[in-house]
Amino acid sequence: MTGTLTAPAALPGWTTDPAARAAARLDRSGFDPGSDPDAVVVAGSVDEVAAVLAHANATGTPVVVRGAGSGLSGGAVAGAGSIVLDLSGLDRIVEISPADEYAVVEAGVITADLDAAAAHGLRYAPDPASLAISTIGGNIATNAGGLRCAKYGVTRDSVLGLDVVLADGRRIATGRRTVKGVTGYDLTGLFVGSEGTLGVIVGATLRLRPAPVATATLAAWFDGIEPAAAAAAAITAARLQPSVAELLDSACLTAIADAGGPAPRGGAFLLVQTDGFGADAEIDAVRAVVEPFAGSGSGSVEVAADPTGAEELLVTRRAGLPALERLGRVLVEDVAVPRSRLAEAVGEIAAISDRSGIRIATMAHAGDGNLHPILVLEPGRELDEQVWACAGEVFTTALRLGGTLTGEHGVGLLKRRWLRDELGDDVVDLQQQLRAVFDPRGVLNPGKAI
Ligand SMILES: Cc1cc2nc3c(=O)[nH]c(=O)nc-3n(C[C@H](O)[C@H](O)[C@H](O)COP(=O)(O)OP(=O)(O)OC[C@H]3O[C@@H](n4cnc5c(N)ncnc54)[C@H](O)[C@@H]3O)c2cc1C
Repeated sequence: MTGTLTAPAALPGWTTDPAARAAARLDRSGFDPGSDPDAVVVAGSVDEVAAVLAHANATGTPVVVRGAGSGLSGGAVAGAGSIVLDLSGLDRIVEISPADEYAVVEAGVITADLDAAAAHGLRYAPDPASLAISTIGGNIATNAGGLRCAKYGVTRDSVLGLDVVLADGRRIATGRRTVKGVTGYDLTGLFVGSEGTLGVIVGATLRLRPAPVATATLAAWFDGIEPAAAAAAAITAARLQPSVAELLDSACLTAIADAGGPAPRGGAFLLVQTDGFGADAEIDAVRAVVEPFAGSGSGSVEVAADPTGAEELLVTRRAGLPALERLGRVLVEDVAVPRSRLAEAVGEIAAISDRSGIRIATMAHAGDGNLHPILVLEPGRELDEQVWACAGEVFTTALRLGGTLTGEHGVGLLKRRWLRDELGDDVVDLQQQLRAVFDPRGVLNPGKAI
């Protein structure tokens, strides 16, 4: 199909230009739908969003909402017959309220821009590693996590209210601007993580939090990933609460070094940051917990001397995925397990890699048990059934350890076949009925998420 849909009247952002359609076809999951969407609308206003949805609903045309297309589960990929509704143009920060510690933003605002604009001693806490490219709307639609979410929670914990355009073009506001509020069902919470299937989020009222008065950062090197994971679990067991606890295995460290980053000083790396008035005391306590697990080389546990050194360590962590992407096609997995089972999970993932012969590099938001086993395929290899069987083993392992299929990236297209293994038939059926209440004609992101 080559862009045969007709635009509703007076829609300046509508295009069937082949280059625009090709650019809107993929996200960062590596999944290719095999064709381009029929049209792309870069919405310039909420009125345009409503017009597109009313048109799609009337004609039964699928709509795929797109933020920045940085998603890793195929949620924003779009093929023939669909309209891509691109919200990146709705990028105004409408209000920052220092007194009440909230921000009102449009959905296309880039996450890092909000964090920078918060000022007044405030910040926007959720910080996905993609914060420099992803949108707030995409973060909300996937309930994105981030490095700081072990202490400050995931995106849902920062969303107070939403402006949403429903599938038929009606506009609603959910939630509130107050810290507390329990009137009616929590529709705000329902839209968070709904992956573009219940409505189009056009604006949000987001909680800001005090920027920490101090931070302290520790880098620890280990002989392998299992002692590193055990150290991370021991931090939790010691009742310490770092704001960041990130784990990288040797495959990630080597890839970062090959991409121009620092040379590894061991077989696994744990980055821990504490913050608040007690940051220094807490990092000393973390050090005492971690040292027995760390490698024996000198400098295997170090506290960063200054904020620049600490930021460099965080940059190293954020460079992990791009460095692996240079090696070949990657399938980024995203399971989570109870934190006490982290070491067991990394051991089992290593065994799956050995059995399957597929290289798996693992990084983890260790502070909340969220593992990213990254399947790195040799050049030219596709996501074949053997690759999916290997990923399936990772999912089954996470579920067996009491975990979940996806900690933060969402189900999208890529994990739907395992959905019932985690949720069970009754829950999936109930969720599908709920979806039909919001979108009776099934035009919002069909075939994705639920
Ligand atoms: C290098 C890299 C690092 C990453 N690190 C993290 C990480 O640390 N934590 C994490 O959680 N994720 C991470 N991701 C994944 C991704 O960045 C997040 O899922 C992000 O929230 C997606 O935002 P986006 O604006 O790109 O959304 P898109 O990819 O465009 O869309 C994602 C999904 O949300 C829907 N959607 C988008 N906008 C809206 C809207 N306004 N209303 C309704 N539905 C909408 C889409 O239809 C799709 O289903 C990473 C990705 C990369 C490439």
